[in-house]
Amino acid sequence: MTATTETEDAHGSSSFQKFPLTLVRGSGAVVWDDRGKEYVDFMAGYGVAIIGHSNPAVVNAVSKQAADLITCHGSFYNDARSSFLEKLTAATPKGLERAVLTNSGAESVEAAIKLARKHTGRSKIVSMKGGFHGKTYGALSATWNKKYREPFEPLVPGFEFADYGDLSSLAKCVTQETAAVIAEPIQGETGIIVPPDDYLRGAKELCDRAGALLILDEIQTGLGRTGKMWASEHWGVVPDIMTVAKGIGGGVPLGAAVARADIVSSLQKGEHTSTFAGNPLACAAGAATLDFIKQVNLPGMAAAKGTALAQGLGKIAREHRVAREVRGMGMMLALELRIDIQRLLSRAMSDGAIFGYSGRNTVRLLPPVVATEDQTRRGLEILARAVDAEEKAHAG
Ligand SMILES: *Cc1c(COP(=O)(O)O)cnc(C)c1O
Repeated sequence: MTATTETEDAHGSSSFQKFPLTLVRGSGAVVWDDRGKEYVDFMAGYGVAIIGHSNPAVVNAVSKQAADLITCHGSFYNDARSSFLEKLTAATPKGLERAVLTNSGAESVEAAIKLARKHTGRSKIVSMKGGFHGKTYGALSATWNKKYREPFEPLVPGFEFADYGDLSSLAKCVTQETAAVIAEPIQGETGIIVPPDDYLRGAKELCDRAGALLILDEIQTGLGRTGKMWASEHWGVVPDIMTVAKGIGGGVPLGAAVARADIVSSLQKGEHTSTFAGNPLACAAGAATLDFIKQVNLPGMAAAKGTALAQGLGKIAREHRVAREVRGMGMMLALELRIDIQRLLSRAMSDGAIFGYSGRNTVRLLPPVVATEDQTRRGLEILARAVDAEEKAHAG
């Protein structure tokens, strides 16, 4: 153990499931530990490093902005903020033209829930079984996993859960009292679950008929990861409110609830503000990130590279009996196994690749979309070796 791990264990939160690694540097799809060992990073902070670690465009923008002005409360106008807002609302689907800026995913969900309740004057929120929206009280109330919820009850009242991907289950929950339905276009945390093709459109129609709003949580699926700028575009659906975070700041904490102008303007002065919201440093990072995404056509890149990655995973799945399924879209993929993958992830890590997980048996891949062919191949080779070793270990 190094001093760093001891200090974090002694003085940091005990709540993070720690990997035994101290990362000190990153570039693109690669990170280095404190001993100089290199890893291809297919976890990328659960997708945060979508445009790569320490992307030069973001480094440059943040350095410049830090020298100019780091903080500027939202009660004043600021050039970096207005530039980011302009780019963000240009990047989101037509009709979503105003944003409540935040500092995280959970806060973006909080903002979306408050907007929906305020705008509709209703209180009920329908969320999805298997859904994940963050761990603050409002976001947690919309999150399905009992492990996250139960220790902290009572949660916010008014939330109920429908079966994900099932319109008849949703129809039973949505009433004249429903303020909003909240869903991920593809469920991330639960294991990369893609809904049936008619689902999101059907959900929007159910909401419209009941006068409820549809909140799509694009925090993990957005910014091009699935092969379109927003995953909801695959099914031609524009939500009433969209939540964004994770990669939007190029790694810097930043998020937003983007919505129709009439929804955002239902907030009265002072009803929902936050000290750091829209701070110039994060906004400069966000503007540089959106510029980069556009410049390189990140959605197109994710579609092409995702096809290659999915083929590689498919090969691993075909060649190993312990593999159950490959699923996902673009560079948001999962390899589900029939075994607990904890040791497999450690093996891969010792071998030089970092993978995330969903539950006990699913490898979750959210690599930087800028990963090179060589890095992707290296990651796949390491994963194949780890699956191989585990298969042999389980065969006895
Ligand atoms: C990560 C995530 C969140 C929560 O974001 P935090 O920044 O961790 O609060 C919410 N929704 C989805 C879909 C996510 O993937």
